Amino acid sequence: MKVLVLNCGSSSLKFQLIETDRHRIETESDEVMAEGQVEKIGQAESIITYSSAKGDKIKETAVVLEHSTAIEVLLQHLTHAKHGVIEKTADIEAVGHRVVHGGESFSESAVITAAVLDKIRECVALAPLHNPPNILGYEVASQLLPNTPHVAVFDTAFHQTMPPYAYLYALPYVLYERFAIRRYGFHGSSHRYVVQRLAKVAKTSLAGLRIITIHVGNGCSMAAVRDGKSVDTSMGMTPLEGLVMGTRAGDIDPAIILFLMEKEDLELDQANNLLNKHSGLLGISGIGNDMRELEKAAAEGHTRAQLAIEVFCYRIRKYIGAYTAALGGVDHIIFTAGIGQNSAQIRRKSCQGLEFLGIEFSEERNQALNRKEGLITTDDSRAKVWIIPTNEELVIARDTMLCVSNGGK
Ligand code: ADP
Repeated sequence: MKVLVLNCGSSSLKFQLIETDRHRIETESDEVMAEGQVEKIGQAESIITYSSAKGDKIKETAVVLEHSTAIEVLLQHLTHAKHGVIEKTADIEAVGHRVVHGGESFSESAVITAAVLDKIRECVALAPLHNPPNILGYEVASQLLPNTPHVAVFDTAFHQTMPPYAYLYALPYVLYERFAIRRYGFHGSSHRYVVQRLAKVAKTSLAGLRIITIHVGNGCSMAAVRDGKSVDTSMGMTPLEGLVMGTRAGDIDPAIILFLMEKEDLELDQANNLLNKHSGLLGISGIGNDMRELEKAAAEGHTRAQLAIEVFCYRIRKYIGAYTAALGGVDHIIFTAGIGQNSAQIRRKSCQGLEFLGIEFSEERNQALNRKEGLITTDDSRAKVWIIPTNEELVIARDTMLCVSNGGK
C-alpha cells in the first residue's frame, strides 16, 4: 500500500511516500519512495525540497502562501513526468497524519471520520500550538484527496497505558475532571518504534522486559516501558516537562515562573517564550541549542557550554534512576533521535556511574557504533544499552496501512 505520511506544522509540511504492507513489515522491507518538505509556508519565499528513491534531488524556492498550495506542490512533484514516483494522485492509497495530541480519547491510531475529527478538535485546548496545524493539514489534504482514507497517528497514544498514579499531578482533582490536566507524554511513535525494534534486534519477546527509552533530539523525552507498554514518561500535559531540551527548560520549580511573572512583570506569552524558546541548552550555554555546536565549544573550553552538557546528562541519569525504580529494575536502555544516535559523549556521560544498575558500558562500541544500530554495553553487561535509530514516519505509514486494512478500526 502506498501511504503518504504528512507532518504538518504551523509553517512547514514534511512528507514521505512509503510503500508498506503486512509482509513488508514482517520482513522490514518497507520502502520510502519519495520524501521532502515545504518550509516557510506563508513567508515571502518558501523552500521546497524533494528527493526520490530513484535518486532525484530537488531544492527550489517558490511562493507558497497556504498549506493547501504546499500539498498541491508536493502532489505535483510526486506525479511529475520526470522525477515523480507515481502516475496519478489516485495511486496514493492512504494518507497518515501526525497528530500531536489525542488527549484521553485515543490510545491508538484512528481513521479520521467526522466524530474522530471532533475529538481531535477537542484536544486543541491541550495543544493550542500543535493540533491546529495538524487539523489544517488533514482539512486541505482531504479536499485534494477526497476518496482516499485518512488516518491520524497520535504522539500521545502510546502513553495512554500509564497508570493513574503516574499520570496524575498533585493538584486539586477537580482540575483533572474539569480541564483534563494530567500527564499525557509525547514522542509516542518514536518510543514505540524503538521498543518494537529492540524486540527484533535482541531477538526477544517484550513480555516481562523492563525498558527505558531515551529520545533526545531537539525535543527530548524518556519513557519507562514494561511488557512493551509505556508506564511512565517525562513529558507532561505539554512537551515542556522533563528533560533539558534544545530551548525548553524541562523540569523546574513551578514557583519560579510565578516569581518571574511578578518580578519582571512578564505577560503570559513572554513567560511561555521564556520556558519554551529561551531556556534549555540555549538558556544555560548562551550559545545555541545545537548539540554539535555545544560539544565543539565545550571542547574548546567554553565553561557554560560544558555546564549545559553536564546539566543535560545529569537530568537523563536522574530519570534513568527514577524509571529503574518505577520498573523495579532495568533490562534495556535505548538511545535514539538526533543527539541519542549521534553523540557518543552524551551517551557516555548519561550512563556514567550507573554500574550499580548492572551497566557495563563499552566505550569502544559506543564510539564505533555512532549513528548505527547496536549494543554499546559489553556482552557480559546485565543491563544492556542500545542505539536504535528512530523512524516516526515509518510508524505512521504502518499504522495507517493497518488501520485502513482493518476496515477502519
Ligand atoms: P527533532 O527533534 O527536530 O526531530 P533531531 O532528532 O533531528 O531533532 O535532533 C536534533 C539534535 O540532534 C540537535 O541538537 C543536533 O545538534 C543533534 N545532533 C545531530 N547530529 C549530531 C552529532 N553528530 N553530534 C551531536 N549532536 C547531533
